[in-house]
Amino acid sequence: MTIQAEGSATAVLDLYRRHLSRGRARLAEMTGGQVELSSHGAHVFGADGRRFLDCGGYGVFLLGHTHPAVVEAVVAQVRTHPMATRLLLEPVAGEAAAALAAVTPPGLNRTHFVNSGSEATEAAIKLARAHGKTRLISAVDGYHGKTTGALALTAKELYQAPFRPLLPEVTHVPYGDAAALAGVVGPDACVVLEPIQGEGGVNIPPDGYLTDVQRICRAQGAFFVLDEIQTGLGRLGRWWGADREAVTPDILLVGKGLSGGVVPVAAMVATDAAYAPFDRDPFLHTSTFAASPIAMAAALAAVRTIAAENLVDRAAVLGQTLLDGLRSIAPALVTGIRGAGLLIGLETRDEHVAGAYMLELLDRGVLVNHSLNAHKVIRLTPPAILTDTDVTWLLTAFADASAAVKGLF
Ligand code: PMP
Repeated sequence: MTIQAEGSATAVLDLYRRHLSRGRARLAEMTGGQVELSSHGAHVFGADGRRFLDCGGYGVFLLGHTHPAVVEAVVAQVRTHPMATRLLLEPVAGEAAAALAAVTPPGLNRTHFVNSGSEATEAAIKLARAHGKTRLISAVDGYHGKTTGALALTAKELYQAPFRPLLPEVTHVPYGDAAALAGVVGPDACVVLEPIQGEGGVNIPPDGYLTDVQRICRAQGAFFVLDEIQTGLGRLGRWWGADREAVTPDILLVGKGLSGGVVPVAAMVATDAAYAPFDRDPFLHTSTFAASPIAMAAALAAVRTIAAENLVDRAAVLGQTLLDGLRSIAPALVTGIRGAGLLIGLETRDEHVAGAYMLELLDRGVLVNHSLNAHKVIRLTPPAILTDTDVTWLLTAFADASAAVKGLF
């Protein structure tokens, strides 16, 4: 079967306009109406043969695109047993869960697989409720997804306002402020935080914050959920943001990179004690496609490949190279450059400057993301497999884009 619109930007735009979203089509027109057709490693290829360096991808592509180890595992699974009956036992799910338990902080042994990051958040909210934790606490500028439960935690007026009322009894505290958290935590609370805020604009909390959060939650008997959907699996140059301070939350949320960049999958990983309600009754929280063998094959291959190719250390080294290189360019309209590993934020003077940067970088073939909760922060989440040539491409593009943006404002 061929896709009829393939190759024609005008035809694809028309399909978007008529059947997907006019808003999305408008956005595409503003960015030149580029069409992506294939991808390999750090590169995405356009309909006209153009090659892009993918430093965006919303944090999914730590392994790059179409990594052969993941693709081969998934293709083999597709050919043998892509979807499970859910009545019989399926071995790949067991192996994927064991692989996660082997790399997550000690004590996090139980995994509930889901299909998206937001669903991982939902599962955590429900598990906490099953323990009587009915009050939710998250942080200002935090991002935990847009399904209705997760949205109650995602502290952004723009996304919440049209959908209220959301879940009751949700408090948002300033991020990085343990004293503020201590003031609201009680035994009926479930605290949900990112170890570094991604969509909030790459906000790095003060040293000791995660330790304080863990101590406060334990002292009060509250649940501590660490959302590592963006920061986990090596993105920060460590396996987990939790490793920055050697904390073990009750629940760890994983997503994005777990897909290996090939099949959507996410997970909620919990301690034995936290998991007890789902352990007792496996039908308490279910979803037809959760833990499908194709997703499990991708997750298993992703975790194994990150370990086998030592990509956590590579993310640390590469991240420092990029941070140093970007800082040495020091453009006038960029007010802050910060990051950990391969999660890097470029804070610009305002969202218009950020938008201009994204377009100028796109002109130079470099894909980056804006931050969903902080529109003036451009986010770089490149793969851990960038070559020296890719690094030069990115830094040259940033220097040239900086000069071009300066001329516009
Ligand atoms: N939590 C965090 C920290 C995220 O960065 C995201 C996605 N940006 C989500 C949750 C939601 O994940 P998804 O978009 O897969 O639902």
